[in-house]
Amino acid sequence: MTRSVTILGATGSVGRSTLDLIERNRDRFEIVALTARKDIDGLVELARRFRPRTAVIGDETHHARLREALEGTGVDARVGEQAIADAAAAGADWTMAAIVGTAGLKPVMRALEAGGTVALANKESLVSAGDLMTTAAAANGATLLPVDSEHNAVFQCFDAARPGSIRRVILTASGGPFRCRSREEMRAVTPAEAVAHPNWSMGAKISIDSATLMNKGLELIEAYHLFPVEADALEVVIHPQSVIHSLVEYVDGSVLAQLGAPDMRIPIAHTLAWPERMETPCARLDLVRIGKLDFEEPDLDRFPALGLAMQALVAGGAKPAILNAANEIAVASFLESRLAFLDIASVVGEVLSRYAPGGPSSIDEVLEIDREARDVAAEVTGKFRI
Ligand code: NAD
Ligand code: MG
Repeated sequence: MTRSVTILGATGSVGRSTLDLIERNRDRFEIVALTARKDIDGLVELARRFRPRTAVIGDETHHARLREALEGTGVDARVGEQAIADAAAAGADWTMAAIVGTAGLKPVMRALEAGGTVALANKESLVSAGDLMTTAAAANGATLLPVDSEHNAVFQCFDAARPGSIRRVILTASGGPFRCRSREEMRAVTPAEAVAHPNWSMGAKISIDSATLMNKGLELIEAYHLFPVEADALEVVIHPQSVIHSLVEYVDGSVLAQLGAPDMRIPIAHTLAWPERMETPCARLDLVRIGKLDFEEPDLDRFPALGLAMQALVAGGAKPAILNAANEIAVASFLESRLAFLDIASVVGEVLSRYAPGGPSSIDEVLEIDREARDVAAEVTGKFRI
């Protein structure tokens, strides 16, 4: 039986890993839609190779080029934000949500409302609108499967029928490229150094989030929404080898963990085949070659972004959405060499401390909070500008 799939953010790191698995199992999948923001060449190449029913480019200026390039292929060329959201709602059995940032929010919501299975990589939508997302999933009978490696690991270890038997959920973090650097040494790091992750190959934004440890903070909030646990039952441990992807501790002292090579195709394959399993070309885990696994406590003094995210999680309301929006603005400024690395967390901290609107009760309210936080963050970023 073939499964119909849509990939939102098809040209990105997670999108391409997903398509790599689909290409190896071509007869099992039928592609409904592929979307991208502005990588027109990447999208055209993927659309010609995979022949989805629809290919959508977000950037309106590329419409004519997309249409021309796909003429005669039978692929419907669409353009604009609304068309991406419509593609998310086009009724695929399985949707990969791999857009980066708050831009993923509306498409993820539309996919959940359509009631299929949503494989969620876009952690920002759970951080900003977690309650709304999980409520929409339940109300529409949608299945939400975590793609983020840590959450996919927890999902594989978590006895969902007995949440009361779980004492702790421990998310592992590689520690990023600056794990051993002092604050002084982090002062002048460049975007190129910060995106060079030691274990994982990922898009630019999440790579910077991994370097500041904001990524792990966003993941704590993500875990809080995905699993029925209290915030104080969530912990982070630094594990530089990225072999153990996360752990679940039970009340009897048993601890279950999921291990594997640091290759996103493993968690993606888990969600693509779920509840079955599928083969992947990923390296098999060779524990003898790895030899030993190390663990450390996260250092909140050197990596304050993690502490800010913990505070936002406990505060709840609009704080996680503000944290996320301010971080997106600060990371974009850092990537454009307009903000120093250490000031990413300074900007987020200042924006968080400025104001506290009430919690959002709709996606439009989340987007309003997001817009306001971005404006404040842009102003604060200006103060810190290099
Ligand atoms: P990426 O930058 O490589 O790709 C992002 C994709 O989203 C691209 O296809 C791009 O065209 C699309 N996109 C970007 N902005 C958009 C917009 N405004 N509107 C519509 N589409 C837009 O990112 P990635 O590394 O693949 O990460 C995607 C998501 O998955 C992120 O939320 C990230 O945190 C999460 N994630 C990634 C990894 C990883 O290994 N890369 C691991 C875990 C979670
Ligand atoms: Mg992760």
